[in-house]
Amino acid sequence: MTKNPLPEITRMKSEIKMITYKDLAKALRITELRARRLLKSKSLRKTSYGEFEYLVFRRDIGPYPEGTAVIFHDKTSPLVVPGYPSIARILLLSKAVPQHFRDQVVIEEKLNGYNVRIVKFAGKLLAITRGGYICPYTTHRLEKIFSEKRIDDLEDYVVFGEVVGTENPYTRYEYPECKDFCFFVIDVMKGGSFLSADSKREFCSDTGLECVREIDRVDKGEIEKIREIVNSMEKEKREGIVLKDPFNRVPPLKYTTTHTNIGDIAEGMKYMFDEGRTYIFPRILREALKSFEEGADGEELEKKMKKLGEALLAEPISSIKKVSLGGAITEEFTLRFYSESVIDEFLSFMQKQGIILNIKNMERENGEIIMWFMKPKRTNLELRNILNSGLSPLD
Ligand code: ATP
Ligand code: MG
Repeated sequence: MTKNPLPEITRMKSEIKMITYKDLAKALRITELRARRLLKSKSLRKTSYGEFEYLVFRRDIGPYPEGTAVIFHDKTSPLVVPGYPSIARILLLSKAVPQHFRDQVVIEEKLNGYNVRIVKFAGKLLAITRGGYICPYTTHRLEKIFSEKRIDDLEDYVVFGEVVGTENPYTRYEYPECKDFCFFVIDVMKGGSFLSADSKREFCSDTGLECVREIDRVDKGEIEKIREIVNSMEKEKREGIVLKDPFNRVPPLKYTTTHTNIGDIAEGMKYMFDEGRTYIFPRILREALKSFEEGADGEELEKKMKKLGEALLAEPISSIKKVSLGGAITEEFTLRFYSESVIDEFLSFMQKQGIILNIKNMERENGEIIMWFMKPKRTNLELRNILNSGLSPLD
């Protein structure tokens, strides 16, 4: 560790100048009148990143899903980066799979991380989150990963991927194959169309980027084979699977393990007034139908019910105890920066999202900076109020 002082944190205000309704109309192939109306509406959010200004779609607009971004740069016409489509969820494998798919089904691992789109625009690599924001931290980490690969030309491509590991500001899930920060390609779009399963693998082997694992290809009737795969994912404590048509003739479907469904409830209930409320019902529904389809009974079902009960009750009890003893329920994140200037960009980005981080510590290590921060949780305040008043904020 060196004795260099740690960077000062400053913030800059930016003004939007490049975004015009005329350019937007051209980029989206809509009328100027509609573009002007959209720009004034709450459906689009205007923001900026470095030399770029961009629009974020806060809902589906025409053929563009929520999370679509239109990026402006003064030297060229704007770039439309479509949002990653939402993936429908399977509750009953034996019904959904044969009804939905045509013939062959590609089974991929579903990785538990966060969705990122990568584009190259005006000579710069940009990493866009699911919501449509250019994340300075993710961009910074991916610039390094991409610079070590055989990629000369990404224009015309959108690389969709999942970032996994613990060194990021959004999710923390460790994999044996990735502890800190890894990127796996989940889909590739070229000229506005998704590549087939085989072309995607080819893209990955040509560029050297890591592709999400293809576990198997089965016929749509081979439900037992799919169930065996889910069971092996269960044993390995992995999130689940995404089923895809090899040529994208029908949209993909997702299915998750009991480990994930119940694990998410436990994690959510730790922060019961944050994630807890919205997490519970859909996940209980998933488990109820999964258990029904698998014919779970006897000891196996008892075990599952105990796990679910613990997730629902033990986690919140321990949170309540902690707050009652004057502690705080916190979610801690670790980030690693290769350059000081990115820290400022990242903090001002989080601030624009309305998230004020509580930075716990920063350390220098071999020219890199490691930062630990906590994200504020509403659960703390709510629990403190309940413990003081004894009254419920709900019914
Ligand atoms: P939704 O698809 O409804 O928007 P969500 O944002 O809650 O769902 P998930 O339930 O995690 O997200 O499921 C979809 C996400 O799974 C994708 O957006 C992608 O980030 C991620 N994912 C992980 N592995 C894959 C894979 N092999 N193929 C496609 N997506 C994958
Ligand atoms: Mg996910």
